[in-house]
Amino acid sequence: MVTVEKKETKHLDAWEMAVSQLEEVAELIDLDPNIVEILSKCKRELTVNFPVRMDDQSVKVFTGFRIQHNDVRGPSKGGLRYAPSVYKGEVMALAMWMTWKCAVVGIPYGGAKGGVICNTKEMSMGELERMTRRFASEISIIIGPEKDIPAPDVYTNPQVMAWIMDTYSMIKGYSVPGVVTGKPITLGGSLGRNEATATGCIYTIEDAARKIGLNLKGSTAVVQGYGNAGAIAARLLFERGCKIIGVSDSRGGIFNPEGFDPNKVMDHKKETGTVVGYPGTRKITNSELLELECDILVPAALEGVITEENADNIKTKIVAEAANGPTTPKADKILFRKGIMVIPDILANAGGVTVSYFEWVQSETALFWDEKEVNTKLRNIMDRAFNNVFEIREEHKCNMRTAAYILAIERVSEAYKLRGIFP
Ligand code: NAD
Repeated sequence: MVTVEKKETKHLDAWEMAVSQLEEVAELIDLDPNIVEILSKCKRELTVNFPVRMDDQSVKVFTGFRIQHNDVRGPSKGGLRYAPSVYKGEVMALAMWMTWKCAVVGIPYGGAKGGVICNTKEMSMGELERMTRRFASEISIIIGPEKDIPAPDVYTNPQVMAWIMDTYSMIKGYSVPGVVTGKPITLGGSLGRNEATATGCIYTIEDAARKIGLNLKGSTAVVQGYGNAGAIAARLLFERGCKIIGVSDSRGGIFNPEGFDPNKVMDHKKETGTVVGYPGTRKITNSELLELECDILVPAALEGVITEENADNIKTKIVAEAANGPTTPKADKILFRKGIMVIPDILANAGGVTVSYFEWVQSETALFWDEKEVNTKLRNIMDRAFNNVFEIREEHKCNMRTAAYILAIERVSEAYKLRGIFP
């Protein structure tokens, strides 16, 4: 099981994949080579090796990264990932994808990402807090509400954001809620932020379903990853009448062609630590899960899982990339040839950063909105972005990812033209 998943996630270096996506679109739109040169590098890369006192009093040195790809359209923005598989190339790629994502939805941010190589499943709360605080202090030299604003990602959550906000505030000597987003509501978090990635993803699935004439009610869906993005996406699809027939987490997947209630699967996961073993389902591997016949497939775990090796076996109508980078460039071409509508990550999961932007605006103005207002604004932004991308797809007869990249890269490039190159 573990071997298979390692092979899946390490299949292609994420940074190579990100640069190749950029270069392909740059060629297509005849982008100024000077802009390509700038965009194919990350602006600022910080690696920190820092000591943490563990519960047994030993000292362990962790390695973490905060990487800012670009800030030409505004402060850089991006999540913070805690996982043993984190490596610098992955963080760089995720930072670049954040630049495109913010540009696609038209919010005034550039892209960044952070990560710490660690296994949170083997750490106590105390160790997690000390590691987070020390890491926050190490990267405090480059983050800030006007500079670079972290948020949750894989294996980080509102509590981790609260520790970062507190550490940064202690360094400054006053409270700075705008330094992170995805905070708990009591500390200035936004209503709707926790569900935002999944909610935005569902809005784009609804838009895509309308375009291909698919009725969500009675359709079938499969979701890989059962965390913030995946579990909530499964619940929201279920609430719209979709039959959830397969879901998975890092320990494997479950399948029942008759469907099951994702809320009950969540209760089971809370009790046992995994979706596997949920009564009335058959255990399957993560590879098998991706190849299940369904109408909607939502990869919501890690990158590089749909590859040239399994793309031909994907049997779905819509792939909605809640995860970042789940489809490799070669697999993308195969899915396009098969006529599958892929809603690319930089569009499908942009709801998270959009509501993060709302949270930052609310933190900076100290004026808070109700959830309805948050979701109405989110819906407007997601629908507008989807339609913009769809129009470009029609115009260029390309896939949705290429169209989203064209939109994003043109916006970033326009910002460079207006600002010029300093000095
Ligand atoms: P999370 O930590 O809440 O959940 C991750 C889930 O993936 C867990 O259920 C975990 O068991 C599962 N998982 C881990 N390795 C796996 C593997 N090899 N195979 C199958 N499942 C595996 O993380 P999240 O915030 O839901 O992030 C998931 C994806 O969504 C990531 O790609 C992330 O970058 C992306 N994303 C998240 C947000 C956000 O706001 N949380 C925003 C945009 C994109």
